[in-house]
Amino acid sequence: MVSRVQQALCDAIHHNRLVEYLADRCDLNEDVLCYKVCWTSIAQARKQATFTQRKFITKWISGDTPSGVEMHCRQQRDCPNCPIYMTEDESLVHILTCSDSRSVDLRATLLLELHEWLIAELTCPWIREFLFYGLQSWFDDPEGHEPGLNWHETFAPSVQAQLSLGW
Ligand SMILES: [Zn+2]
Repeated sequence: MVSRVQQALCDAIHHNRLVEYLADRCDLNEDVLCYKVCWTSIAQARKQATFTQRKFITKWISGDTPSGVEMHCRQQRDCPNCPIYMTEDESLVHILTCSDSRSVDLRATLLLELHEWLIAELTCPWIREFLFYGLQSWFDDPEGHEPGLNWHETFAPSVQAQLSLGW
């Protein structure tokens, strides 16, 4: 008799461990991670990603990305500083928010590419703007407040519909 119970149990245990790990590492509420994150969409996105992309994401989540801080801890770099903005340590957050003009320009280009891709994928404009301006705000000031957004009445139903369809 062939049964999928064992595989389903294994998947559930791995999923629960991942949620526990992320909650602990990112100082987030486990219930929020369990019930507010659309894991089906994340699983689908992971399936569509290349092996290299999946490897990068796994390294990033586990903190194994060779940032200046990590390389310094491994004694593979003399100092933990950002190589282009020497006054700050190259942590994972710094990599995403480095204020050197070259980093700012690169991020702006990538954000515009994301915006164009969301348009090409026919993403609801309210969701598109939420992602674009939310990321822009975080890049500009990771410790700051979220931008004040005026939700259009169609936003919540659009997000709900998109969650049902998958992203
Ligand atoms: Zn930097």
